[in-house]
Amino acid sequence: MPTNIEWADLTDNIIRAKGGGWWCQKISEGCKNCYSEKLNQNSFFGGNKQPYSGQPPELVLDTEAIRKWGFQRKPKKHFVSSMTDVFGEWVPRLWQHEMLDGMFVAPKQIFQILTKRPEVMLSSINEWLSNHGLEELPSNIWVGTSIENRHTLEERSQFLAQIPASVRFWSVEPLLKHLGDISQYLNDVQWLIIGGESGPDSRPCHIEWVESLVKQCNESKTPVFVKQLGSNVYLNQQPFKTKHAKGGELAEFPQQIQIREFPNFTCD
Ligand code: SF4
Repeated sequence: MPTNIEWADLTDNIIRAKGGGWWCQKISEGCKNCYSEKLNQNSFFGGNKQPYSGQPPELVLDTEAIRKWGFQRKPKKHFVSSMTDVFGEWVPRLWQHEMLDGMFVAPKQIFQILTKRPEVMLSSINEWLSNHGLEELPSNIWVGTSIENRHTLEERSQFLAQIPASVRFWSVEPLLKHLGDISQYLNDVQWLIIGGESGPDSRPCHIEWVESLVKQCNESKTPVFVKQLGSNVYLNQQPFKTKHAKGGELAEFPQQIQIREFPNFTCD
């Protein structure tokens, strides 16, 4: 379905709870205010009210949605499974491979897969590549991991870096801490998305942290996309107010971080 997420055209939630709603399992600080769990608590939005912890409900894979990818003519950017982690340990590997099969036969569509479990993504993708006798992912499949602080940067980026893909990306959202020097990692990543946390309980994001990331990306010529500043923004240790509730209006950003680039990409 069409999305307001600025770096995608569509979200395709191919894994859902059988009785309605979604499910995921919280794994790190970045999940604390999970937007998907909040929606899932609300039956008005089709949620099943299960928390994102404990045991999963019965889940289904929407194989029909996957099949349709191959018939779509107009190229679009599909953020696949925005409401869960498709590389969660509870997701059957067969489902992950059915998803990749569907992407493989839709080379004009761009698929953006984001996980907080890049070690699972690496092993599942390697298995799929080996099953197909391929050396690397088709270039329309972009793989990303979420980074929220220095710890997740060091832990997750090493697994992502090993995935043979033309576009590996970081979604640095919610940015919860200053990441410091990331220059040593930028050779292995082709795109950064940056965002502060939004919503009523959002944790602070300092514009200086965003500036530092943008500067390092510019220096290394890594495309960077500043999605939003968030709802709890600081500049020079003072609150920085924006009219846009999520701090997502580009014109309200300080000029040096008004940047929304995409990876250099050509279809196979
Ligand atoms: S991985 Fe994403 S969808 Fe899953 S609980 Fe964490 S923030 Fe929510």
